[in-house]
Amino acid sequence: MLITTTPSENSLLHEIEMFRTYIHDSVDLFSSHSSDGRFVYVSPASQYLLGFESNELLGVSIYDLCHPEDSSKIESLCDRNLPQTERIFYRIRKKEGDYIWFETTRTLLVNKKDRDGFFCISRDVTALMVAEKALKENEERYRLLVENFQDTVGIVTVDGFWIHMNNTGRKLFGVTDNKEMIGKCLFHYIHPNEKKNATNEIVQYYRETTLECTLLRSDGQQKYVEIKFIPTLYRERETYQVVIRDLTERKKTEHMMQRAEQLHVVGQLAAGIAHEIRNPLTTIKGFTQLLIQDEPNKYLDVVMQEIERVEEIISDLLLLAKPPISTFEEVDMRKILNDTIKLFYSESLLHNIEIIQEIQLTNSIIKGEANKLKQVYINLIKNAIEAMPNGGKVLIKATNVNETVIITEVIDEGIGIPVDRIKRLGEPFYSTKEKGTGLGLMICDQIIKNHRGTFKVHSIENKGTIITIQLPKNMDMGKKNNLPIKRLKRKG
Ligand code: ADP
Ligand code: MG
Repeated sequence: MLITTTPSENSLLHEIEMFRTYIHDSVDLFSSHSSDGRFVYVSPASQYLLGFESNELLGVSIYDLCHPEDSSKIESLCDRNLPQTERIFYRIRKKEGDYIWFETTRTLLVNKKDRDGFFCISRDVTALMVAEKALKENEERYRLLVENFQDTVGIVTVDGFWIHMNNTGRKLFGVTDNKEMIGKCLFHYIHPNEKKNATNEIVQYYRETTLECTLLRSDGQQKYVEIKFIPTLYRERETYQVVIRDLTERKKTEHMMQRAEQLHVVGQLAAGIAHEIRNPLTTIKGFTQLLIQDEPNKYLDVVMQEIERVEEIISDLLLLAKPPISTFEEVDMRKILNDTIKLFYSESLLHNIEIIQEIQLTNSIIKGEANKLKQVYINLIKNAIEAMPNGGKVLIKATNVNETVIITEVIDEGIGIPVDRIKRLGEPFYSTKEKGTGLGLMICDQIIKNHRGTFKVHSIENKGTIITIQLPKNMDMGKKNNLPIKRLKRKG
């Protein structure tokens, strides 16, 4: 029978033939399936991709070939509620038994009562998936590394605004969540006193300089840090990767070593001065006394007073220079405090000062050196009286914290100490008084240290000062490594 076709039918047939050839020769797999997933048509690429001849697959369900873990994905192939065209990724078994990754675009066949299955075009994306997985693993490894790095690592905009920060960074800045930092500028945290110097260096950070500065956290804590800027592209934006190393502890150690060195030098100096001055001073004092006896004179009285003051300073200096380890015996803190307070009887009357005792010690015996401890309380009460030029109350408290520790407090309602000065207390010769030596607190600090106790200053300007001393009953119970900077600090 001769079949004739019209020209338009002819061109359609031509198109169909072209498609057929394309499907036949393609390296992608073309397949059509019944609604339950069985192969109805399989293009020859199945041989190349899966190792099956086309006809071997006919009637086999795609469910049986897919990886058990991916069967839920396959279900969406047949789900007629999903959009008509759907793309899924899953693993499919080759004839040899191993699996490859397929990317399948499936189209539901509609409007055909007898054929309500679906049509698939699939390609092998194994290489892509493996590369992607490796990339993800790499990213995860890098992320873990950065998150747990002991320096702060983060990303900031060119103007210094945080985009990301690792775990260490959150601890350094005292936040718990990245959200608290995002949108905040790193440079705003630089201590106001250093901002001026820092700006010059910030301008240069394009050249990978290191910036050493103090960061002031919102809770007031200060951190001494070293910041490094490395230009990077982050999500197509020009940014800087910052690495911040916290040098606070290192700085503290340096400071402590400096102080130890200072103490050592002062000690040596003190011993020298004391020895050199004592002898001529004794002579001067003796002859002055003789002169006064011969002919009393108000100028000589002043000279005598000043000589006594020099003697006082010298005995302070000698105390510094003396070796710290001395004889420790059982002493009664109640007696030490009582004796010391008695010494101030006339002086307190003179300055309109009331000294109140609140000594509640059930057990007041400790191991220590009575004279040295008295020296501590003499210095503290003296300071308290000097802090109240118009009179006031000095409260001396003592309590047992527990079996092993006694706490004493010397509380005054005097002029107080400004915050910025508190950290300088205990430095040799630091004094705000016209006739001060600046050695009192330093000596107290050293004596308490030798008793393995702690010494804390808490002061509010124009309100008063509390000096708290903790003493262990037995030296062995105290802190072994009682470092100067820790001992002399402001409470709360
Ligand atoms: P000095 O009494 O010779 O000045 P100190 O070492 O005893 O030396 O004290 C050092 C400084 O600490 C004082 O000059 C003073 O500024 C401050 N200071 C110490 N104790 C008090 C106090 N109770 N109230 C106010 N300021 C104090
Ligand atoms: Mg003093």
